[in-house]
Amino acid sequence: MKNTVITNNVKELLAVLPADVELVAAAKARSTEEILEAVSAGVKVIGENYIQEAEAALKEIGHGVRWHFIGHLQKNKVKKAAELFDMIETLDDVTTAEALNRNCANIGKVMPVLVEVNSGREAQKSGVFPEKVLEFVKTISGLSNISVKGLMTMGPFSGDPEEARPFFKETKKIFDILKKAHLANVEMRYLSMGMTNSYKVAIEEGANVVRIGTRIFGERD
Ligand SMILES: *Cc1c(COP(=O)(O)O)cnc(C)c1O
Repeated sequence: MKNTVITNNVKELLAVLPADVELVAAAKARSTEEILEAVSAGVKVIGENYIQEAEAALKEIGHGVRWHFIGHLQKNKVKKAAELFDMIETLDDVTTAEALNRNCANIGKVMPVLVEVNSGREAQKSGVFPEKVLEFVKTISGLSNISVKGLMTMGPFSGDPEEARPFFKETKKIFDILKKAHLANVEMRYLSMGMTNSYKVAIEEGANVVRIGTRIFGERD
């Protein structure tokens, strides 16, 4: 039996998202069956936080859809990540970038990446601090088997999407500065911000990729 809730959720979302905004279905802790239903309903990009979960789902679903890594990338998982994903949204560390570059070179792949911005400047969170993003992008732009395609941010957690707005604004500002900088091997094309509670605000502030889990699949257990 199909869980028609997921189908309806995807259709409702796709109907309200502007045509130039890409929907990434954030699939952590969801079954392959649930992901497949979202795909049948029109989802074209799956976001995965965990390599093992991604590997299991990918085996069943394949590369007819695109797979984005949206979790924290650990150095010991870089080889797998290089093999499995079509984009890494969360690059924030030079050593990891170099390891990813090496692993991509080994398999003859150029990996599109987004740089994760720690827009809330939270010490315990992943991401490059806003004032360090330009320098970070310059440093990794010389790596020929990864290709910077934009920025991603989470923003500090809050129930109120309006509280996320200043952090989205700041990330968009950095995005525009980088775009104007015209760095070699860097294309500022994707700005990934906004989740279930904040995607509308994120789009108002310039996001063209939104990562949505709960609004598609329901609350996580
Ligand atoms: C889980 C997750 C999302 C989606 O969160 P929801 O609130 O369920 O929409 C988006 N981005 C990342 C990085 C996530 O881990």
